[in-house]
Amino acid sequence: MSQPQLRNLPSVDALLQDHTLRDLAHRYGHAIVVDACRGALDAARASILAGADAPMPALLIDDVRERAERAVRPSLAPVINATGVIIHTNLGRAPLSEDTLAAMRTTAQGYSNLEYDLDAGERGSRHAHAESIITRLTGAEAALVVNNNAAAVMLILAAFARGKHAIVSRGQLVEIGGGFRIPEVMQQSGATLIEVGTTNRTYIDDYARAVTDATTLLMRVHSSNFKVIGFTHEATLEELAALAHSRDLLCVDDLGSGALIDTSAYGLAHEPMPQESLAAGADLVSFSGDKLLGGPQAGIIVGKKSAVDALKKYPLTRALRVDKVTLAGVQATLLHYLKNEAAKKIPVWSMIAATPEELNARAQKWVERLRAAKLDAAVIDAASTVGGGSLPGETLPTRALALTVASPDEFAARLRQNVPAIVVRIEEGRVVFDPRTVLAVEEDALLAGIERVAKMRGFDMRSSI
Ligand SMILES: *Cc1c(COP(=O)(O)O)cnc(C)c1O
Repeated sequence: MSQPQLRNLPSVDALLQDHTLRDLAHRYGHAIVVDACRGALDAARASILAGADAPMPALLIDDVRERAERAVRPSLAPVINATGVIIHTNLGRAPLSEDTLAAMRTTAQGYSNLEYDLDAGERGSRHAHAESIITRLTGAEAALVVNNNAAAVMLILAAFARGKHAIVSRGQLVEIGGGFRIPEVMQQSGATLIEVGTTNRTYIDDYARAVTDATTLLMRVHSSNFKVIGFTHEATLEELAALAHSRDLLCVDDLGSGALIDTSAYGLAHEPMPQESLAAGADLVSFSGDKLLGGPQAGIIVGKKSAVDALKKYPLTRALRVDKVTLAGVQATLLHYLKNEAAKKIPVWSMIAATPEELNARAQKWVERLRAAKLDAAVIDAASTVGGGSLPGETLPTRALALTVASPDEFAARLRQNVPAIVVRIEEGRVVFDPRTVLAVEEDALLAGIERVAKMRGFDMRSSI
């Protein structure tokens, strides 16, 4: 323990006399810099007590500056997703199209006709905006946009099954992730969950036998993020709708992803589509705005006009409504589908549609640049996934950049600390970068980030040249 060393540390007041820190206090405010001084001094004290010498004044000042700068930097910041997982929930799901961004920006910047009918010159409905496009795209009578799909499911259950019974197959009592579990959502909504069938086999008769006077709703939940194979059976949506309508009940389908384009056209399994659920007879169908739809976070409910109108009037809807910026974004994203340009303009779909040849060309270009920087880089075969709880087990063949480095985990950790942060996969001891999920505008920052990390101490690169 070195008390004299501790006494060598300056006081906060002494630190604040330094001219760079005085400048900093001028720019960021006194309180931020004082906090940073305290943090730096605490850290120095701890390392002295652990046996180190007191840091040189210049190092201490640097530490204060870094802490102050971190304090005024937004914690939510862009990340380059090189994982090849297209709808990565932890990385913010769907990147948005140019038109979507432009619409959100224009709407956020000024006033809009959010709740104003310009023809009549009087109050209008915010629900009207996205509704006409959604109904055209899906063939639904009516539509409603809320905060996310979890909110959509919660709202439907609260409005139609509060204090009543909703019947769900045991094979569909799913957890989506982030704590969204169907039984718990049911409980929150005030609906009583009636489970029928077994984990692997549920028949329409199981539902029929469970219907009582207290039943108001039959619900199907798409098992979006897992697959049950082998000895399995689920009642079809057609069967559920027929049973529901013969007993004066609602048939509700929670789809999750809500693909408006057929995923099987891209070599993937077929992801159920909202238009199919409506054609099968579902009264209400709910899906996310930021999964395969490729738009901002939202929950979309489509279905029978009477049911959707009842939802619009239900008090909880007010608490779950989206703001004008989201609404503008949902509308702009949906317009791509209407104009038949979704696969080209919506990033999620252009990522799905990217061919191995295109991806190979990009990976090859990256490798050349990194080899020129004396890095051990190669192009390899790899697999991308759709993610976002869609199409479990399905992969898209890709060509990726693989870097051989001394310690891949450490390298990946340093990449995450880069600005912008870079998130990667490690496969067979190599750091793998999948071009499928890296936007063209991010390529330079990605390669610069890799080069920067490779130059750091501890990464003596084993050159292949
Ligand atoms: C993803 C998902 C949800 C939750 O949707 P969010 O938009 O994330 O709230 C609900 N149900 C299913 C079946 C899902 O796949």
